[in-house]
Amino acid sequence: MQLIDGNKLAQEIKDEIAGEVRKIQAEGGKIPHLAAVLVGEDPASQSYVRSKVRSCEQVGFKSTLIRRGTELTEAELLDIVQGLNEDPDIDGFIVQLPLPAQIDELKVTLAIDPRKDVDGFHPVNFGRMAQGLPAYLPATPYGILQMLERYGIETSGKHCVVVGRSNIVGTPISILLSRKAKVGNCTVTLTHSRTRDLPAETRRADIIIAAIGIPNFVRGDMVKEGVVVIDVGINRVDDPTAKRGYRLVGDVHFDEVAPKASFITPVPGGVGPMTVTSLLMNTLRAARGEVYPPAAKSKTP
Ligand code: NAD
Repeated sequence: MQLIDGNKLAQEIKDEIAGEVRKIQAEGGKIPHLAAVLVGEDPASQSYVRSKVRSCEQVGFKSTLIRRGTELTEAELLDIVQGLNEDPDIDGFIVQLPLPAQIDELKVTLAIDPRKDVDGFHPVNFGRMAQGLPAYLPATPYGILQMLERYGIETSGKHCVVVGRSNIVGTPISILLSRKAKVGNCTVTLTHSRTRDLPAETRRADIIIAAIGIPNFVRGDMVKEGVVVIDVGINRVDDPTAKRGYRLVGDVHFDEVAPKASFITPVPGGVGPMTVTSLLMNTLRAARGEVYPPAAKSKTP
């Protein structure tokens, strides 16, 4: 069994991005600039955004953090989004979710210019991704592709079972892995809460992507020998022996599944660290005009 080390991989990718930034600087080019909008006081969101901004600094990007209180109105947030859409110095930006109840998240997502949507949440980017056109890929699926590629895991012709059909993980990774692409060409089964006999599906899998949100959901008797397991889940379980009173576990029962797996991601230290890296990669692609060429900037994508 080989452990897929997300921390190590994320650091390697950050070092590569930092090298690219140094090259841009040496050539007198424009330094990539990412902005993040954080509304409210949600502790998890604050910590995610902090880590995103810190990562920008580590690789030499410019970053701007816009913080507003919980009482911000939808109209005020849409104004901020509009300002960022129009600011030529900003290559890409994110609005950290969740948003306070008075703000319609979909309305905000749709207001973001797809050319700056480095989270890859806008339906234009999702549609482009589904059609195999250049697109900003959503962070977690993009991170999973990087893991599979950089660990030399063959995907072509393999049977991949994705558990969970969320818009941010399960559905996009099922599309990406079924594409005709270097990391792709899988036969994909997308399973969810209404799937009949889920263990029969997962036992047929060469690759399992678990994104369910239920601690230790995938058990040892649900997988076959040699399976590759990507555990996306991040769940808090009570642990009185831990300093914070809880610990993080994945959607996969690691102790039962790891002995049967050829590759497996740990939680924490697996998929999680790759998410920020994906955001940096999307921002670099935005700054380079790789997804939406600069000549097309004034046109509708
Ligand atoms: P979600 O919470 O939006 O949806 C869960 C999915 O699981 C649904 O599609 C549902 O159909 C499916 N499901 C629920 N019960 C099921 C069952 N009994 N059998 C089969 N399928 C079932 O999903 P999400 O936002 O993708 O999050 C999933 C997990 O991944 C959570 O633990 C979340 O915290 C974590 N997550 C981690 C990262 C990361 O960076 N590592 C990123 C996003 C989400």
